[in-house]
Amino acid sequence: MAKRDYYEVLGVSKTASEDEIKKAYRTLAKKYHPDVSKEANAAEKFKEVQEAYEILSDPQKREQYNQFGHEGPNMGSGFGGFDFGGGFGGFEDIFSSFFGGGRQTSKTGPIRGKSLKTAMVLSFEEAAFGVEKEISINKYDTCSTCSGTGAQSHSDIEVCKRCHGTGRVIVEQNTMLGRMRTESVCPECQGVGKTIRNKCGTCHGEGRIKTTSKIKVRIPSGVDDGQTLSLPGKGEAGLNGGLHGDLYISISVKPHEFFVRDGLDIYLEMPITFSQAALGASLDVPTLTGTSVLKIPAGTQSNTKFKIAGKGILNNRNGVSGNQFVVINVVTPTKLSGEQKDLFTKLSKTNETATNSTFDKIKSFFKKNFS
Ligand SMILES: [Zn+2]
Ligand SMILES: [Zn+2]
Repeated sequence: MAKRDYYEVLGVSKTASEDEIKKAYRTLAKKYHPDVSKEANAAEKFKEVQEAYEILSDPQKREQYNQFGHEGPNMGSGFGGFDFGGGFGGFEDIFSSFFGGGRQTSKTGPIRGKSLKTAMVLSFEEAAFGVEKEISINKYDTCSTCSGTGAQSHSDIEVCKRCHGTGRVIVEQNTMLGRMRTESVCPECQGVGKTIRNKCGTCHGEGRIKTTSKIKVRIPSGVDDGQTLSLPGKGEAGLNGGLHGDLYISISVKPHEFFVRDGLDIYLEMPITFSQAALGASLDVPTLTGTSVLKIPAGTQSNTKFKIAGKGILNNRNGVSGNQFVVINVVTPTKLSGEQKDLFTKLSKTNETATNSTFDKIKSFFKKNFS
């Protein structure tokens, strides 16, 4: 069903004054209030009238509605919260603003505990292999004296006499529409349904106290810098039997002296000598779990990357494992013994006879362009 124009709903013109809108609303609300009205679809119509009034009585919302209609920003939300299933509580609220009636704003029922955030710094190895850590957090936690009941003993907890444990009470009121029954939160027990005769001395009946809690945290292997771990139910204790909040731990990982991490892969720069690069070699390469043998072929260049499969980090939450990459760095010697110097000299003579074709190309390029 298409939404009707709010002005049409209230039967006023687009230029209606605030007073005219209020007056139209009062007339229609009386006409359609489901406790009084004999009209078909009274509840539907009452809801429609209420919604129209909510928008047109607020100058800012009215302006937005005039400009954008039902599709405008902030339109549509904020409605639908009127519960017509039991007691027409919304109706009482609106009329109380006209007739100065008392508005009930008591908090009710279970309230969930706050979720908390904290930070943790891990070493490279702790993040790679997982670790168990204990952290201290200052938070509201379940009172250990009364186990969260708020009572001195179990016999101190009684079903609320006023609401008989339902947490709701029916109030009869005389209004301009006649006698009205409205349901509201029980003022005796604040909607919990129970009362406590002798309150717990530690938490004074709240069932929770501010305390420093030690929490054991199992860090799974493979967590990475910048990730957040969530620990459901490890936040603050709730009220009136509400659930605990959650705890969020943001992780930072310290860098390693040699290994560099990329997700589950790790990188290691491996220095080798000229002769190892030229002749090929079998290298003992450090890994996270010991050493692995890596064979490199003759003629290996600097920055060549070799993969050692499965030697990266294992994520034990999903069983996925990374690889280790070894990046070769051919180190030019800076100090030579007399014998080494002789050998390099001999070697360079052989190099001159067997010159590299790329080197020739570069030489001829410079000759042509710059000489
Ligand atoms: Zn009660
Ligand atoms: Zn207590």
